[in-house]
Amino acid sequence: HPPFDVNAVRRDFPILRERVNGRPLVWFDNAATTHKPQSVIDRIAHFYAHENSNIHRAAHALAARATDAYEKARETVRRFIGASSTEEIIFVRGTTEAINLVAKSWGARNVGPGDEIIVSHLEHHANIVPWQQLAAEKGAKIRVIPVDDSGQVLLDEYRKLLNDRTKIVSVTQVSNALGTVVPVKEIVDLAHRAGARALVDGAQSVSHMKVDVQSLGADFFVFSGHKIFGPTGIGVVYGKRDVLEDMPPWQGGGNMIADVTFERTVYHAPPTRFEAGTGNIADAVGLGAALEYVERIGIENIGRYEHQLLGYATHHVKPIPGVRLVGTAADKASVLSFVLDGYTTEQVGQALNEEGIAVRTGHHCAQPILRRFGLETTVRPSLAFYNTCEEVDRLVAVVKRLSGNRR
Ligand code: PMP
Repeated sequence: HPPFDVNAVRRDFPILRERVNGRPLVWFDNAATTHKPQSVIDRIAHFYAHENSNIHRAAHALAARATDAYEKARETVRRFIGASSTEEIIFVRGTTEAINLVAKSWGARNVGPGDEIIVSHLEHHANIVPWQQLAAEKGAKIRVIPVDDSGQVLLDEYRKLLNDRTKIVSVTQVSNALGTVVPVKEIVDLAHRAGARALVDGAQSVSHMKVDVQSLGADFFVFSGHKIFGPTGIGVVYGKRDVLEDMPPWQGGGNMIADVTFERTVYHAPPTRFEAGTGNIADAVGLGAALEYVERIGIENIGRYEHQLLGYATHHVKPIPGVRLVGTAADKASVLSFVLDGYTTEQVGQALNEEGIAVRTGHHCAQPILRRFGLETTVRPSLAFYNTCEEVDRLVAVVKRLSGNRR
């Protein structure tokens, strides 16, 4: 890879030329969603202009083009996360649908009364609610790995939670609320030693660090396209082949069947078994283009640059009088959550928006972890590789001004 050039990268993202309230847009809401490089926008337009068709079902030229494009995207996903086969890559709408698929399909067959499901205190609601629903249906229990005051999971407490009733451990790799990088490899290994399966929620990790699902060893790894510079409405379930083969379909319909009579249906093998109906073909193709874009920049380059940028932001935000950083783990990615004494988080968000700076304020769909720190909401700037130190300076200037005006 050529050396990382943030100005060259920025030219690839047309939305970064937008102005908001008379000021150049600063996009610090990357944990909510990321922007799209021109190559992704062009790829989706090309699909609709030249390849648009339903896939698999019709033997004509455009059906073949659409099918090729869709399956090429599946191969790109496979390569990007280091899976051994495209049969392990299922397209879904996003991380939320991915976890629901696993909870509904795998959970239906493998979780029973008295069984236990382990999540961490850091989880997004998408990695809590589907397991709660499964637990309620099956008479199973949710157990929670606690965190320390820095927002890092307590591995010793986790070890104590594991037992022969543990069926699955489902944890995020990076916290969307605090930015904590969780030691998921250790968590997966310990789950396996206890005879449990493991799911890793990669929604906040794949765009910031190298993920190799084979060395990670998780049975499932899930993520959303829109958080890695791809379109909304497309996401991925990676599942180990033998685990997927043992799972029943979770939705029925066209595309996922080998043969149907009124008496019985024979299902396709994975991944098709889990892709009922017409999928989001164009956006899968767009996701493929996004991952190819990241490959061209180099995920290691991205991670290194973002690490410096987060360090710079932390260094300048932390000492501002009245600021309380929430989430101070040694290993963090992208996210800088804070509250400012004397202001609601909405007021801080508003003041930033007036200067063209977009951050999320609120509970970030992770209420349990904020409440662990005695809070309902935080201000959450979240960085991507197209952000700059100058943009951080603009945020710092606003927070300093608010801080100075405190009564
Ligand atoms: N898990 C984590 C850690 C997330 O950050 C998010 C999105 N904020 C999700 C799951 C849900 O992703 P989506 O809304 O794309 O389904």
